[in-house]
Amino acid sequence: MKSESTHLGQDSPNRTVVALAGGVGGAKLSHGLAAVLPEAGLTVIVNTADDFDHLGLRMCTDLDTVLYTLSNRENPVTGWGIDGDTRVTLDALAEYGQDPWFMVGDHDFATHIFRTERLQAGETLTQVTARLATASGLSSTLIPMTNDRVATLIETAEGRLDFQDYFVARRQQDVVLGVRFDGIAHASPAPGVIEAIADSDVVVIAPSNPVVSIGPILAVEGVGQALETTSALRIGVSPIIGGKALKGPADRMLASLGHEVSSLGVARIYEGLLDWFVIDDADNDLAPQIEALGMAVLITDTIMSDRGKRATLARSILDVKWPTS
Ligand code: GDP
Ligand code: CA
Repeated sequence: MKSESTHLGQDSPNRTVVALAGGVGGAKLSHGLAAVLPEAGLTVIVNTADDFDHLGLRMCTDLDTVLYTLSNRENPVTGWGIDGDTRVTLDALAEYGQDPWFMVGDHDFATHIFRTERLQAGETLTQVTARLATASGLSSTLIPMTNDRVATLIETAEGRLDFQDYFVARRQQDVVLGVRFDGIAHASPAPGVIEAIADSDVVVIAPSNPVVSIGPILAVEGVGQALETTSALRIGVSPIIGGKALKGPADRMLASLGHEVSSLGVARIYEGLLDWFVIDDADNDLAPQIEALGMAVLITDTIMSDRGKRATLARSILDVKWPTS
């Protein structure tokens, strides 16, 4: 039985929080949580199903977005990449005939080179990620969902596409008919993933794409079960506001895969995994139907348009109490 008196707000300095995150949406909320929690209070478990090999390097797009955001280096316009990064290397590669379809800045290249070199030397992705986090001055713990290779594949009318081919090269124009996480059946959770979910006070599902960012994390062996059985307070935030994604293809993807395109549709995907669901003021009419799924609903401004608003949303999340029913 969960205690109804537990309070997770600012008067509980030792609480530990784990966030499940994809890229930009996950990074923004993680940044807000890190800002309001005590040092080392936050662990972020990041999707790795977008990772791919490119230009001979291992690129981990969501991990890097969270890394750059938590270290205050993210490009404020795109949300990914490094602020002020240059593209000398990419332009030089283009002169050799290499199609620069995937933007990699010079400083960003260093991350991929370092990661690839360390992986080739036998380190795990968990170890390399920890090195990158430490070198970047992070006080939060950053862990990949798995050290095994998982690759999202997108089924379209044109055939099966690699995730970055769909997302970047073809600009998410194809209708998504299906999604597969290649390798997921044999992927073990990275060290610390299950423990973080089981042992923390709060688990937050960030407002990331429910299908291709949170979906793979929940599909890693044992993660869904850990979320079902943890005694932590579980809180999700809707990435869909007023029937639309703020950015990216999550809304179109939900529609073509047969989900309702609303915060209610997202809540249905997380049914049984959450105690609370945070929806935007714009969606307040959906609260009764979401509550009927067995979650308490927090209605607030969920648009994290600046750093202050990330922290405000994080504070609201950490101030919720156990639902009384
Ligand atoms: P990606 O891996 O970079 O595509 O990013 P994520 O999967 O982490 O997040 C994408 C989702 O974040 C999109 O569906 C957006 O609607 C959502 N999102 C981005 N910014 C915000 C925000 O400020 N508030 C909320 N509620 N959702 C956001
Ligand atoms: Ca992503």
